[in-house]
Amino acid sequence: MNRRVLVAGGAGYIGSHTTVELIAAGYDVIVVDNFSNSDASSLEGIQRITGVMPTFIEADCCDKEAMRRVFEAHDFDSVIHFAAFKAVGESVAEPMKYYRNNLLSLLNILELMREYGRRNVVFSSSATVYGDADVLPVTEMTPRKPATSPYGNTKQMSEDILRDMVHATEGLQGIALRYFNPIGAHPSAHIGELPRGVPNNLVPYITQTAAGVRECLSIFGDDYPTPDGSCLRDYIDIVDLARAHVLAIGRMVEGRSKARYEVFNVGTGRPVSVFELVKGFEQANDLKLNYRVAARREGDVTAIWADTTLANEELGWHAERELCDTLRAAWAWECSVRGIDR
Ligand code: UDP
Repeated sequence: MNRRVLVAGGAGYIGSHTTVELIAAGYDVIVVDNFSNSDASSLEGIQRITGVMPTFIEADCCDKEAMRRVFEAHDFDSVIHFAAFKAVGESVAEPMKYYRNNLLSLLNILELMREYGRRNVVFSSSATVYGDADVLPVTEMTPRKPATSPYGNTKQMSEDILRDMVHATEGLQGIALRYFNPIGAHPSAHIGELPRGVPNNLVPYITQTAAGVRECLSIFGDDYPTPDGSCLRDYIDIVDLARAHVLAIGRMVEGRSKARYEVFNVGTGRPVSVFELVKGFEQANDLKLNYRVAARREGDVTAIWADTTLANEELGWHAERELCDTLRAAWAWECSVRGIDR
């Protein structure tokens, strides 16, 4: 059985945590990354946690010839494709940057997999494909809504490209994992999220505010039709999310897939409001956060959370980490980055 996995974007936030879990599960990992939104410190973190430095190639997945050299040099049978841009607002301002990068990287990887006869691919999709869903929680059968940003559109288009390519290519199988809101960091605090500039996402904004890097967290809207007026999301621990990739690869490597192309939601199945998350962070870390209520953020849906039955039953995957532990890990990571004594 071939237990070698190419992790495209393996130095990034989800990629680095997945690399750790793959190594722990006995896989050989080859990381490709161009450090466009990451740096080499995550590779050192992986080594500190696992004792193993994954094989690393600095390359852009959009550079097909560079990627061809990776396929020539390494005989992995499986690929996990994380290498994509992910900032919704930036994608609205610079749509071509998103279409070019997110689509071309996928096309290159799939074409090379077909050419070199590589069999298994996991794709990073997102709950954003559901848009403002009519019925909650969402299952994998919930219809996708038209995308509201170029970023979301690249995720929908990528799912379709993967599905079509799998069906057209004998021996190729794929799994798309639809992530809800990944948060937290490895409990060792050796790897975590490293947002560049002002964070767009809630938890990095919270940890930077607690660290004094940002003055005040804005809570975007307290007049939504939810119990406390703030939005509801499904916050999934990054290590739990990473484990889902290992199970997805195992399912394909061991020939247990029920269809050549499969889709799984990866969330906790539990809606949490912005206020609950802020309070949870304060309690878990015994500190007070400076926050205020601000206007709604354009494009935010009121509520979204996952039905995870399919991943539970088919992947044997369950979200295990408690939210308070995840929020403790997020703070421990921020402290380690900033050199703060907790
Ligand atoms: N949010 C907030 N303040 C921030 C960032 C986010 O109130 O500075 C809210 C946002 O409105 C949403 C939730 O936190 O309800 C999660 O937002 P995030 O950007 O992390 O993920 P999204 O669900 O938009 O993908």
